Amino acid sequence: MSTDSLTVAAAAALDAILERHGRRPEQLLQVLREIQEHAGHVPDAAQLRIARALGLPLSRVRGVIGFYAFLSPVPWGRYRVLFSDNITDRMQGNLELLDHLCRRLLLEPGRMSEDGLVSVDTTSCTGLCDQGPGLLVNGWAIPGISRERLDVIADLILEGRPVTAWPAELFAIADNVRRAGMLLDNDLRPGDALRAALARGDLSEVEQAANTRSWREANMAPPQGPVATLNEIRAANLRGRGGAGFTTAYKWESCRNAQGEQRYVVCNADEGEPGTFKDRVLLASHADLVFEGMTVCAYVVGAGRGFLYLRGEYRYLLEPLEAVLTRRRRDGLLGKDILGIPGFSFDIDIHLGAGAYVCGEESALIESLEGKRGIPRNRPPYPVTHGYLKHPTTVNNVETFCAAALIAARGGEWYRATGTAKSAGTKLMSVAGDCALPGIYEVPFGTTVAELLEMAGAEHTQAVQISGPSGTCIGVDEFQRRIAFEDLATAGAFTIFDDSRDMFEVARNYAHFFAHESCGFCTPCRVGTAILKATMDKIHEGRGAPCDLHEIAQLDDVLHQSAHCGLGHTACNPTLDTLKRFRPVYDRHLDHLDFEPAFDLDGALRRARQMTGRDDADAHLDGEPAP
Ligand code: SF4
Repeated sequence: MSTDSLTVAAAAALDAILERHGRRPEQLLQVLREIQEHAGHVPDAAQLRIARALGLPLSRVRGVIGFYAFLSPVPWGRYRVLFSDNITDRMQGNLELLDHLCRRLLLEPGRMSEDGLVSVDTTSCTGLCDQGPGLLVNGWAIPGISRERLDVIADLILEGRPVTAWPAELFAIADNVRRAGMLLDNDLRPGDALRAALARGDLSEVEQAANTRSWREANMAPPQGPVATLNEIRAANLRGRGGAGFTTAYKWESCRNAQGEQRYVVCNADEGEPGTFKDRVLLASHADLVFEGMTVCAYVVGAGRGFLYLRGEYRYLLEPLEAVLTRRRRDGLLGKDILGIPGFSFDIDIHLGAGAYVCGEESALIESLEGKRGIPRNRPPYPVTHGYLKHPTTVNNVETFCAAALIAARGGEWYRATGTAKSAGTKLMSVAGDCALPGIYEVPFGTTVAELLEMAGAEHTQAVQISGPSGTCIGVDEFQRRIAFEDLATAGAFTIFDDSRDMFEVARNYAHFFAHESCGFCTPCRVGTAILKATMDKIHEGRGAPCDLHEIAQLDDVLHQSAHCGLGHTACNPTLDTLKRFRPVYDRHLDHLDFEPAFDLDGALRRARQMTGRDDADAHLDGEPAP
């Protein structure tokens, strides 16, 4: 597609995409993503045509393109290579490997080659920490990068072979399940949980069911199936697995009781927290359980439609997941009159994200589902009453829906028998970093950090980052703490650092992550994360002073008080956690006792001096001697 005008073929391709998405404005992100995949960017002419077709201002289309990292209005090259840049990728040498590929391709990182063939850059964690370093080529994930594999990739690029024709073994991603429990070892067949849920009701009443609010309002004694299933979820004491730990039954009941003609169920599969990859495994190998849990939820709350919001980095899972949905429709587990129950109708669409960590926040995710920039909403109102297109919406994490399906099948008391008094069931942990056996561990709640470290074959561990950068960093003296909502609540990331690692550099990597992922909506976060990053870089460069650490503590106060969402609230956590527990590593970086500005003004003038050919004393700021 050219930037100025579309060829007849390009216009036809674009129209076909628009048509497939019903020319609905809430499909904007999906339309843009498909054009990006088709053409390598979204040209100006396509933007205009999309704006007209969807009845949107051009500025809205441009705003959405600018918001998501995987969309671009300008070409990046026929091949866009993005190296995953989580701390574990760093530990596995991702930057040296990036440099190797750039040398092979005669490229500068971050710039497209002059012939428009290829560009190479970094991106946030791609969810391959157990088999890193990872990268994406035109959105397709490749694990286990080594120099040898990069040489193969470089040859394929230079040959101009389409990514879809590359050897399949390059893209082979393992589940790496190291320990399975009630969830990963379940023997449910598709439909078992739904049949069990339906069997709890009086079938004669359920048969009358129409999955709408009017049906419920018209029935003084509503069908017992949904109520009985909700009671099982309540008895199980299921809490959301996305990190916040909200009570699932309360969320479902609130949505069920909210005013509105339509209800929606949304599965948050935007697993963007660096260090977590357990949803990747659930979606790859337990998709039926995920969709079954969503359908059980729809049955309880009375929803007719659901969405699985899949992170863009998991693009490779899209077709396999679509195939599972197709099979479930064929088997009467989705669609109209599910399992032959009149009125119990529900179907699921998959929406693919486009590289924005903040969309993991449920209200931002809903904005993104509506085809907008993924900026978190003001709350209240909450999604359970005003969610997708302002309709009552239940949003849960992938793992939560899997647990809900298990509970629907086996009952609340069965589920609650595992775990602790306040944290029922098991937790999937994504274990990565310095250990012999990285991968997925399903452990009962109450398992200690020390036990998990032993299972993973970790030695000489000095720290574990629990729940990714927005979580908690703990040291050796806390390894007896437990994975549980009442102690270490976690979305599942468990990143191990042995005593060879510089914990300051870990915190610096996370500071870069937050600055990169701040959506920019509110000034305290946009500016605050940039200041944090600059301060950590300054300390790294040996220009830090103790007052910088004090500044970070103050910055944390400001962000907690004034940032709009959790990203801003937690941005300073890794720095403050490591500062508290590993102060000596910071002190080693602090060469100055006095204040040093984070911005090197004289350094910024270097290029001007080069251009003018001057390097005398007057061409430097006062006090900055000429070399
Ligand atoms: S706190 Fe940060 S991520 Fe959240 S809305 Fe504000 S700018 Fe966006």
